[in-house]
Amino acid sequence: MTDAPIFDPQAWGLSDEQANLCTQARELAAEKFAPRATEYDRNASFPTENYQDLAASGLLGICIPKESGGHGADLKTYMLTAAEIGRYCGATALTFNMHVSSCLWTGDLLDQLDLDDHLRDQHHKMRALHYGRILNDGKIYAQPFSEGGAAAAGFAAFGTTALKVDGGWKITGKKIFASLSGHADYYGVLCSALQTADEKSSRRNTMYIAVHADAKGVSVVGEWDPMGMRGTVSRTLIFDDVFVPDEAQLMPQGVYPKAASRWPHMFMTLTPAYMGIAQAAYDFTVSYLRGEIPGMPPVKRRMYPTKQLAVAQMRLILEQTKALWFQAISEASPDPSQDVLMRAWAAQHTVMENANAISQLAIRTCGGQSMLKSLPLERLYRDSRCGSLMLPWTAELCMDMLGKAALYNKGETDDDA
Ligand SMILES: Cc1cc2nc3c(=O)[nH]c(=O)nc-3n(C[C@H](O)[C@H](O)[C@H](O)COP(=O)(O)OP(=O)(O)OC[C@H]3O[C@@H](n4cnc5c(N)ncnc54)[C@H](O)[C@@H]3O)c2cc1C
Repeated sequence: MTDAPIFDPQAWGLSDEQANLCTQARELAAEKFAPRATEYDRNASFPTENYQDLAASGLLGICIPKESGGHGADLKTYMLTAAEIGRYCGATALTFNMHVSSCLWTGDLLDQLDLDDHLRDQHHKMRALHYGRILNDGKIYAQPFSEGGAAAAGFAAFGTTALKVDGGWKITGKKIFASLSGHADYYGVLCSALQTADEKSSRRNTMYIAVHADAKGVSVVGEWDPMGMRGTVSRTLIFDDVFVPDEAQLMPQGVYPKAASRWPHMFMTLTPAYMGIAQAAYDFTVSYLRGEIPGMPPVKRRMYPTKQLAVAQMRLILEQTKALWFQAISEASPDPSQDVLMRAWAAQHTVMENANAISQLAIRTCGGQSMLKSLPLERLYRDSRCGSLMLPWTAELCMDMLGKAALYNKGETDDDA
């Protein structure tokens, strides 16, 4: 029996395109990704076969604009589609996000910002190179931003630098938690562009550029044996004086900082993997208590009021999470009002924390046999814990921003107190 969509197209008013992409993703992930998820998780290995399927299905180009040969999905359409993948393999959905962001950010998000004709023209030429690689050759892009300092949170300039040289840039630095490391074909790196070696790095000079995985000076180091999201293979990347040609930029210089500040919802793209996990943990519990999990003896427990109450509580949390998330992704746009932005932070926090809340309730409710490694629930539980840690909008930082934004208007201080 196929699972019902997370967001029923009629009830939630999805377009035909959104409904079709969600169906395609759900069917592919349920049939192919779900049976492979245990192995990837156990071995902390990258879901290579899933990416071959994603390439064959055309979903690798989901956010490549239609005129360039992709599906042209906007942020909302992508998020709804990716959540369906997250139900069956969280690590695939999370790494898919890293790949897709390189297209969404350079595609629909930038198309909605005002750039002068020269910059727009330059950008369209640049992105055509990347889109061609993805659509024609099934190439995969990663998104290593984190460095272990304050840069990925948006509070400091990136320590990784790109020094201007003849015909391109020399990249030097280190990125931690680089999902898809050793498996992506290109690393879409955020770094500080320097015209001379003694120039100081600044956030204004942030550059977004794709480094070929096999370029001289690129190496992947360190082990990867984490608690959850093990299939993301998020090891450390070292760039040691790596030459990258000018045309490898994913956005013209100076554009990334503008995009990040005017399109803050771009950071919500880490949530669909966890929206899918929340749904999966709820679905599992219902099936388990109904005695419908294949290979398990029927557990006759659903008649107990405590079980019914627990499932009701899970359903409440799931409905609240879905409603807030759906509203936040529906109203995403450049230059959101403070009210809309605060809702985006609230939605991010809610999805990340509630995916874990539902997963832990699922384990308590289903009981000891449900947390055996032969079943997916304990993986959902471990994977779900990782959502709140993702910078720049970690659960803690969302609370920080919400509290400040509620109590202070823009530019307001306590100096006159
Ligand atoms: C499974 C997984 C996959 C990942 N994949 C990628 C990837 O592909 N690319 C990528 O770039 N990153 C990736 N990350 C990294 C992630 O986005 C964070 O950068 C990382 O989890 C930060 O860990 P840390 O210990 O360095 O956090 P720290 O920077 O030490 O922060 C710890 C906590 O302190 C809080 N904090 C941080 N800065 C501040 C501040 N200035 N003020 C107040 N509180 C603060 C935050 O809540 C944060 O959670 C991944 C992480 C995980 C877990």
